[in-house]
Amino acid sequence: MAFEGLTERLQKAMEKLRRKPKVTEADLRETMREIRLALLEADVNFKVVKDFVKKVREEAAGAEVLKGLNPAQQIVKIVNDQLTELMGEEAVPLNRAAHIPTVIMMVGLQGAGKTTTAGKLALRLKNEDHARPMFIAADVYRPAAITQLQQVADQIDVPVFEKGTDVDPVEIVREGMEVAKQNHNDYVIIDTAGRLQIDEQLMDELVNIKQLVNPDEILLVIDAMTGQNAVNTAQGFDDKLDITGVVLTKLDGDTRGGAAMSIRAVTGKPIKFVGEGEKMEDLDVFHPDRMASRILGMGDMMTLIEKAQKNFDEEQAQETMDKMRENTFDYNDFLAQMDQVTKMGPLENIIKMMPGMANNPALKNINLDPKQFAHIRAIVLSMTPEERENPDLMNPSRRRRLAAGSGRPIVEVNRMIKQFNQMRKMMKQVTNGNMSGMQNLFGG
Ligand code: GDP
Repeated sequence: MAFEGLTERLQKAMEKLRRKPKVTEADLRETMREIRLALLEADVNFKVVKDFVKKVREEAAGAEVLKGLNPAQQIVKIVNDQLTELMGEEAVPLNRAAHIPTVIMMVGLQGAGKTTTAGKLALRLKNEDHARPMFIAADVYRPAAITQLQQVADQIDVPVFEKGTDVDPVEIVREGMEVAKQNHNDYVIIDTAGRLQIDEQLMDELVNIKQLVNPDEILLVIDAMTGQNAVNTAQGFDDKLDITGVVLTKLDGDTRGGAAMSIRAVTGKPIKFVGEGEKMEDLDVFHPDRMASRILGMGDMMTLIEKAQKNFDEEQAQETMDKMRENTFDYNDFLAQMDQVTKMGPLENIIKMMPGMANNPALKNINLDPKQFAHIRAIVLSMTPEERENPDLMNPSRRRRLAAGSGRPIVEVNRMIKQFNQMRKMMKQVTNGNMSGMQNLFGG
């Protein structure tokens, strides 16, 4: 899972601080050292780390943290704020042209996820803007690239302009633009060639395409798993092309986090989207504040709720939020949520977006396969209506009955109940909405 090691180390550093009855200057220095090491280990650019730690230290000094009531909590807040700032503060929307078509040029190294992301983006534009995008296949070096784009396009029902592999890419783009104008496509997404590494010839070709169409958006697609290299790549492309934004892919993998945290600081260009899976739906807007929470293990409730809203109606999502807040979230809601959650994507990703869950030891060794889901369901279905409405009723004899009723071992029943209660507690803290709630996740 993304950021796992980093989240764990940052939490440990904060936790240690929190346990001290009194925080001294030396403790603070030690925490800063641990944060620095955690970031370096996560492959964050060393200069970015240096600046980051310096800023946190300055903020802490400025706020006179040591004299305040709860130094550990204040440090968490400062780190959270600085992480958010580092990644750009606000989500940056896609550029749009005043006149159609808006031209989006996708660039990046081979295998970064360019073609897949082009598809995801087109689907998003179709769904959200009722747009009519068109692709231009400008990668003429690998015949498979055109076939792949065609396959992606077929899935989401978007036309592709292509001229095979024997025509100059700049010429293909020129003709493609004419066709898009004739057909009144409101977006043109150009899928360009990639290489294993940056090379002069490719860059020249991309520059020529850029000069021809003057794109509204040059999106650099970067594989988050490549860490430091991602940053070098970003710099290389940006120097030549003056990119307008970055899409960070494969955040569903176990990336250490370096790319997400360094790219903005090093290139000054915003990450606009993140790819979180191979499916066409798996593209999310990049929100620096939410990413900071996620990195700190505080969960990403906003994204979770948005995913929920996409799949269910708003009223229901609001109701769930209210129940979480009022702590009346019961096993019936849990059951309903489980059914809905299966629609929202890979279960592990969803659960790990919940506050405190990213590194929850209870979750670590659980393989969340659909079968396990069915087991949890069976346990909940063995409850009486009264039990489902009153989660606190669960005493040992009831638990034994549930085990017998569901045919699951008692340890599994106990584990499920424990997790449910943990989840309920954390939901309440976070939906109460303030930092003090979140800091409680660190055990405060
Ligand atoms: P391109 O060479 O840059 O066009 O890269 P592709 O679009 O062909 O993607 C390369 C591989 O990465 C494919 O197997 C994609 O399914 C996969 N991929 C792309 N984006 C993501 C993502 O966000 N998450 C995961 N897990 N895989 C991705």
